Amino acid sequence: MYRVCRAALSLTLAALFWMSAFALPAQSVTMSELMAGNSRMLAPGQWQVNGRAPRCGSTQTLISPTFWDYGGSLSDLIILNPEKMRQLPWRTQLFVYHHECGHQTLGSDEIGADCQAIQTGKREGWLRPRDVNAICQQLFINSAGDRFHPPGPERCEYLRQCYSGAIPAPRRSPGRTLDTLNTR
Ligand SMILES: [Zn+2]
Repeated sequence: MYRVCRAALSLTLAALFWMSAFALPAQSVTMSELMAGNSRMLAPGQWQVNGRAPRCGSTQTLISPTFWDYGGSLSDLIILNPEKMRQLPWRTQLFVYHHECGHQTLGSDEIGADCQAIQTGKREGWLRPRDVNAICQQLFINSAGDRFHPPGPERCEYLRQCYSGAIPAPRRSPGRTLDTLNTR
């Protein structure tokens, strides 16, 4: 059992390093830095916040203190920066987790990943309307957006529309190698 787990972890790490050659040159840290120091891999359901242990199918969670955003995702992997996440209220932390989880099935659809997180929070009862506004203030107010993410005000309008049910459920789209939450 030990060997099987070790083998699975080795494969995951190998995949990460392989992807890093293509996905990370433009980013401010390398994947080896991401994996250095106190980073650790958590099995599905092991990451907890406020007594909750959200799951994202069989997706593992990499706790990386050197990751440059609150969260990110790779294929079959959610990345969380514990130092940055610690600064957020627990409901916002759950939003970040479920946004990155959304990419596991939705691919590169940012609005869809946001909306899936909002719908999950509303359905599970931990996300109230005022929490949507808080998420906007805490994560996106200073975001200029990029070619994948709309600017903060527009993104927040989508969040509110999603919460009210005004926009349809997200659709799957082809994935890309690395997603970050894009909060700056
Ligand atoms: Zn995203």
